[in-house]
Amino acid sequence: MICPKCEAEYVKGVTVCADCGTELITKASFAAHLVKHKDWEIVHSTDVMYEAEMIKANLDGAGIESIILSQQDKNFPASGDLSIIKLLVKKADAEDARLIIKDINKS
Ligand SMILES: [Zn+2]
Repeated sequence: MICPKCEAEYVKGVTVCADCGTELITKASFAAHLVKHKDWEIVHSTDVMYEAEMIKANLDGAGIESIILSQQDKNFPASGDLSIIKLLVKKADAEDARLIIKDINKS
């Protein structure tokens, strides 16, 4: 669970943020929340965690903030999409991020 306002993560069972009192949402809904309200964009989907982590490390190196969200969470609604790990960056960084990811995939 995660607070959509402070972006703090909480363990299962907690329903309200201890800091701001906002109702917590699942990580899966948080991804949708970021895309909808905070100008984040999904730049990569994969089912391989180390791939997502490698890309994140590369983006970090380039000074681009990114978030990895995975559906490994049992709460995540099942769907036909096998690419269960999603990498998000801010919209302003999306173009640069895509170029970096392209370079990684090439090598
Ligand atoms: Zn909060």
